[in-house]
Amino acid sequence: MSKQQVVILLADKNQSNIETIKSTLIHYNDIKYKFDITDSLKDLLEKNEHNKFELLLMNQGFSDANGIKVIEEITKRKLDIPVIMIVEEGKEDLGVKAMDKGAYDYLTEDEIKTVALSRAIRRAILRKKLEDVIKESIKKLEKLAIKDGLTGLYNHNHFKEILKSEYKKAKRHIQPLSCIMLDLDHFKSVNDTHGHPFGDHVLVNSAEILKKLVRDTDLVARYGGEEFFIVLPNTNLEGSFILAERIRSVFENNIFRKGEISAVVTVSLGISSTLDGNVTGDNDLIANADKALYRAKWRGRNNVCTYDETEFDEAVGGKEEEKKIKDFYVRLENINENIKETCIESAHNILLEMNSWWDNVKEHSVRVSNYAEKLTKELLMSDDDITVVKRAALLHDIGMVGINSKILKKKDKLSDTEYSLIKRHANIGVKIIERTKLFHKELPIVLHHHERFDGNGYPHKLKGDNIPYGARIMAIAEAYDVMRTNTLYSKASSPKEALAELKECSGKQFDPYMVDCFVRVIEKSK
Ligand code: GH3
Ligand code: MG
Ligand code: MG
Repeated sequence: MSKQQVVILLADKNQSNIETIKSTLIHYNDIKYKFDITDSLKDLLEKNEHNKFELLLMNQGFSDANGIKVIEEITKRKLDIPVIMIVEEGKEDLGVKAMDKGAYDYLTEDEIKTVALSRAIRRAILRKKLEDVIKESIKKLEKLAIKDGLTGLYNHNHFKEILKSEYKKAKRHIQPLSCIMLDLDHFKSVNDTHGHPFGDHVLVNSAEILKKLVRDTDLVARYGGEEFFIVLPNTNLEGSFILAERIRSVFENNIFRKGEISAVVTVSLGISSTLDGNVTGDNDLIANADKALYRAKWRGRNNVCTYDETEFDEAVGGKEEEKKIKDFYVRLENINENIKETCIESAHNILLEMNSWWDNVKEHSVRVSNYAEKLTKELLMSDDDITVVKRAALLHDIGMVGINSKILKKKDKLSDTEYSLIKRHANIGVKIIERTKLFHKELPIVLHHHERFDGNGYPHKLKGDNIPYGARIMAIAEAYDVMRTNTLYSKASSPKEALAELKECSGKQFDPYMVDCFVRVIEKSK
């Protein structure tokens, strides 16, 4: 019987340790040990690309990284090599730390001269084998699983199987087969505004709604993140359109609720059918539904579109009619933009009528909008995204209307209770804006403009990149404006002082990259 071969990558600056390891292992001749030597993380990564190592035996120090960092890199890059760390006598705590970071085991320098070395290697190899078997089994189980974990609907893979067999059946029995692809509208904004758990709640409840609305013979699957697919055997285009329209209308009139949070989430739907001219296989049904869905989104969402409508659009494409459709769409979009501007303007006027102090808030909002615009440009954002940030800036303090004016006008330091009342303005603002159904993209920015980069802000204590991009911009623009203005509590700082303060809080309160950009742009404009 041929001997088991084990290839070990040795990494130890101390040459005598390497010799010790080799000579200790030579006594165990049931395994053929082969060795390769490395002394840097860079070299290790390169070697690992071309070779398969059963084990990495390493000391704490590499020329370009310490042992813990090496283990972190191995884990981060999913390199799948078991690691045993060798530590000096008395430095066992380092070995324990290495194990916490993912090393299989550790040995002291004295132990590598003993039977403990061979035992640790054998255990590591056995553990790796068992882990591989478990991973393989999980993969197999995942393939066998047919349900999506969150919604309990059929998952993507099983949906494909279903569609394939339904397509064959439809062909055999010469019956029509239709599909509806459904995507929740502006779902990113739902997550950003109300949090991921609420997003999950919407997904679970959407699945329930869909299951209730379809016939027993229809099949509903979760196609992807917030996309669902409905397979409708023996259903023609007309039948599937009626169902799709019913689904659209149910979502439009439904309010998702969880605790204090409530939201309306509309859907866009694309329909395909075996009766479409170009369908020669089950995959064409998916592609056509996808194309129709894309068109439904393009039309403004909360919309149903059939594949044959997209065909019609293409038939007139490039001609005068297509140009008219485009022009019409652009003009409609412009009207929509105007409505948004008018809505903001009216909101400011109403607020001014209700509270004389609003004038100051309005002026502050306009200045914040201007500062934010400068930063968005430095960040090379698209024109559309810049508009969203500017609008959000004009709306960001609208929730102040719900805060007692005595608190707003108070000259002394605010008590904790008063401060926590003020903090509610972000949530109140969102509640007000939500009613207009016009500002999906602005909502997360308004809600999160007081989050801090280090996770100590409000209302959701979001951290780093989890804070919506626009909200991080707003935090900087607003802080700068507050510092530059005389307030009840303090005198205005000079631009230099305000920028120094932003730098001081970079990485803590503010996104450090954005602070750098903002400092640059303000210094440029001086
Ligand atoms: P559109 O109207 O164009 O479809 O806009 P959208 O925001 O819905 O589209 P986009 O594809 O940009 O965003 C989809 C979002 O769905 C982003 C992702 O975070 C979220 N999502 C995907 N899967 C899940 C999930 O399992 N749970 C939650 N809460 N969110 C999810
Ligand atoms: Mg979506
Ligand atoms: Mg989507």
